Amino acid sequence: MVNIINLEDYGWEKPLPPAAAGFLPARVTAVHKERYELICGHGQAFGRLKTAVYYGRGEEFPTIGDFVLLQYEPSGDSQIVKTLPRRSFFSRRDPSPGRGEQAVAANFDTVFVMTSLNKDFNVSRLERYLALAWQSGGTPVVILTKSDLAEGVTVQEKAEIAETAFPGVDIISVSAVTGQGLDKLSVYLRPKKTAVFLGSSGVGKSSLLNALAGEDIMDVKAIREDDSRGRHTTTHRQLFMLPSGGMIIDTPGMRELGMWEVSHGLGTAFADIEEVLSRPCRFSDCRHQTEPGCAVKAAIENGELTAERWNSYLNLKRESRFSDDKIAFLRKKQLRHKTLAKWSKQKKKNGEIRK
Ligand code: GDP
Ligand code: ZN
Repeated sequence: MVNIINLEDYGWEKPLPPAAAGFLPARVTAVHKERYELICGHGQAFGRLKTAVYYGRGEEFPTIGDFVLLQYEPSGDSQIVKTLPRRSFFSRRDPSPGRGEQAVAANFDTVFVMTSLNKDFNVSRLERYLALAWQSGGTPVVILTKSDLAEGVTVQEKAEIAETAFPGVDIISVSAVTGQGLDKLSVYLRPKKTAVFLGSSGVGKSSLLNALAGEDIMDVKAIREDDSRGRHTTTHRQLFMLPSGGMIIDTPGMRELGMWEVSHGLGTAFADIEEVLSRPCRFSDCRHQTEPGCAVKAAIENGELTAERWNSYLNLKRESRFSDDKIAFLRKKQLRHKTLAKWSKQKKKNGEIRK
């Protein structure tokens, strides 16, 4: 059969594992209840999980962006027999009782962390999203949306606030209406690269996707947003190939990411604070409040750390503490190690630029 699609164009980069003989690799582009939309060498395909593997042996359920192995069936649904290892992923608590985590998006390179330049602009929410993004294994880029609704000075001002809060992270303001800034996203949307949207409902994800795609592939919500389920059509693709050859994942699952996942990425998002904290305070049980010889207080006094940033850190830490036990799986996967390495690389790069 003629190979009409090269899966490498969809980001496939590894040689197949030995056990893959006879199976066809594919990428998941949408997940419906029990049926998966896929792209493989023969074009679009549909697949169902092989019961013995997924329910019998507990294989990890595939999600949007996953690479899987198929027992290809040209005239009906193929059988999905394996979920291949992920290079990055977001997960949330699985709503079904007794199950731990559930992946909602996988194998992306960049995380577009989105906040709008009008009333939605909120640095602590951005901080929270950044922490999630670092934890996922992708590289975050902050996107300030709806720049047409803000005055030039406001855009500049808010971009600067974000730059101060997130050193080493790219910050780009865009408008889906005027097209301003869209060209700056192209470096993240090069062929074979995948980006995922992370941002509250109404921030402009669907509009941005449509603008990048050059056509309306997503329903944009009406201004009234009383319908909390949103207006996105229920059967649509969730991983899109753009004309640029890059891909975007926009899935409803991303909207349900809870707080519980955050604590793990905290150290990375706040690496500057962790560095301060690694300098010992005079008292080993220092609460960093009024104690003499406190390293945190000293850092705030000499301007190394702003009081706002310290407070965001404390708030985020408080919120995420209750759920620490639920993230043990992440430690196992040593994602922290990976994201920290990425952070220091970014910082080095940044340092060179500033010199
Ligand atoms: P989503 O929920 O994140 O997918 O957000 P939508 O793309 O559905 O957008 C929510 C609302 O914001 C809609 O009314 C859009 O028309 C509006 N919107 C989105 N992007 C822009 C923009 O760049 N400029 C302006 N003025 N409005 C926008
Ligand atoms: Zn202290």
